[in-house]
Amino acid sequence: MKKTVAFSKNAANLFFHLLTRCNLKCKHCYINVKQHGQNTLTLETIEAWLKVLALINKKANVIFLGGEPTLHPDLPAAIHKAKSLGYNSITVDTNGYLFNDILSKVSPDDVDYFSFSLDGVTRKTNDMIRGKGSFDACIRGINRAVRRGFNTSLIYTVSSMNIRELDRIAPLLKDLKIDRFFIQVIGIRGKSAEDRNAQLQVSPGDWLQIVPDAARKIARYGITVTYPKVFLNPEEPFECAGLVADNYFIFPNGRVYRCPLCEDYPLHSMLFKDNALIDTPRINENDFFALDIDEGCVMNKLIQPDNLSDRLEGTTQYKIACCMLKEEIRE
Ligand code: SF4
Ligand code: SF4
Repeated sequence: MKKTVAFSKNAANLFFHLLTRCNLKCKHCYINVKQHGQNTLTLETIEAWLKVLALINKKANVIFLGGEPTLHPDLPAAIHKAKSLGYNSITVDTNGYLFNDILSKVSPDDVDYFSFSLDGVTRKTNDMIRGKGSFDACIRGINRAVRRGFNTSLIYTVSSMNIRELDRIAPLLKDLKIDRFFIQVIGIRGKSAEDRNAQLQVSPGDWLQIVPDAARKIARYGITVTYPKVFLNPEEPFECAGLVADNYFIFPNGRVYRCPLCEDYPLHSMLFKDNALIDTPRINENDFFALDIDEGCVMNKLIQPDNLSDRLEGTTQYKIACCMLKEEIRE
């Protein structure tokens, strides 16, 4: 069964970056320390921010990230705090190294998912993108988490470097007992934006030919697959999550964005100041969300327009969907 996961006013997600430090240096890392800070949040601050956000919507899903969040010694305490505040679900996004003995300090009752990142079916491709040894470390981490009874998901960020391996990943996911598989599309921000000639973005032709088929193949193994729509036909409706959803991308320097594509710029619409969440003055990301253009997502056109290159007779062949609009396949 395939369905488009539309944005919902009733669902909220907190993408909570506890620190920006990481043991890896992935080629496509979106972290930008100039914009996101280099500090590690104290437990006191994490707890204060979780409390503030719980007052806005405690039915939100919390996703702890970094950098590498397991490098934060207080991650278990942060998880327990989020749990006690009654948040809907708690996920930890990790590169698989699982520092600070995290698996023995939290239980499957505390953490809904450990979500691992792997960007190649082969060690060669993954390690070319994420660094030597990262493939083996991720596999080891997944196996350890599964042995301890945690639910696991895997995130595969598709770019021109690894799209042709995607349709071979199903047996590996099955062997690893992965419950959910998330296909992401590369964003041209952070490190990916440093070399504009690298051509990491995927063309509409390659995406549409490879990704939906690969997703269906993987779903046949009983794994729930989610992937971004990316390309909309001109007649399909376009919606900006900044206007209709409730997402918070929180960084250690206090910036809070509503749109991940804005994160390379000081366009955040909110800020934590003295542990209070305040609105920032204009111009900020909110001013972009209502702009109605033929090409769909306005931030896509501003920061990563290479995926708009296919045109027919001067008209836009595809609109670019909001990066948070996903399709889900479950069989
Ligand atoms: S593991 Fe994540 S945070 Fe670390 S370098 Fe890679 S993409 Fe960036
Ligand atoms: S990615 Fe585009 S459509 Fe989605 S929230 Fe950002 S500006 Fe809006």
